[in-house]
Amino acid sequence: MSDDARRLEVAPSAWAKIIELATVDPRLETGGILLGWRIETGIHIAKAMHVPDRTARRTRYQRRHSIAEGALANALDLLPSDSPVGYVGEWHTHPALVGPSRVDRKELRRISRKTENEVALLIAALDDERDGWAAFGLTAARRQLYPGVVELHTKSGNEEGDRQAR
Ligand SMILES: [Zn+2]
Repeated sequence: MSDDARRLEVAPSAWAKIIELATVDPRLETGGILLGWRIETGIHIAKAMHVPDRTARRTRYQRRHSIAEGALANALDLLPSDSPVGYVGEWHTHPALVGPSRVDRKELRRISRKTENEVALLIAALDDERDGWAAFGLTAARRQLYPGVVELHTKSGNEEGDRQAR
């Protein structure tokens, strides 16, 4: 873990939701937004929401901005007013075992320009050999990108936790 790496702590239910959506058609990218809160060492991801993109292709997922805003507003409306949960970033799938692309990094930096808060990008990448999904993460704050260490708190332990995006 490099010195400036940030943690992406992913709740089991959030990762399960991502895998469920990813598995619908593993060859098609899909994605959405992340809800959670900031922790000293990074970001806690409590919930993943789906933002469908019907124009998705094998290597392209575009977040539909208006759908995302609507879904986010609805989700936040359901929370108690003192809830710490808010928008903390984005997630999407990759149909191959690769981490954040150059476009992904550029996009995260762009999102980070609109907020003072740290934001995360979580990638679920299809790992054919292991017949499963690997996690890659990245965060951005004040336009600066930081490598992310994804911690999946699943029953199978932390075996994916050391995967790191550069
Ligand atoms: Zn991507």
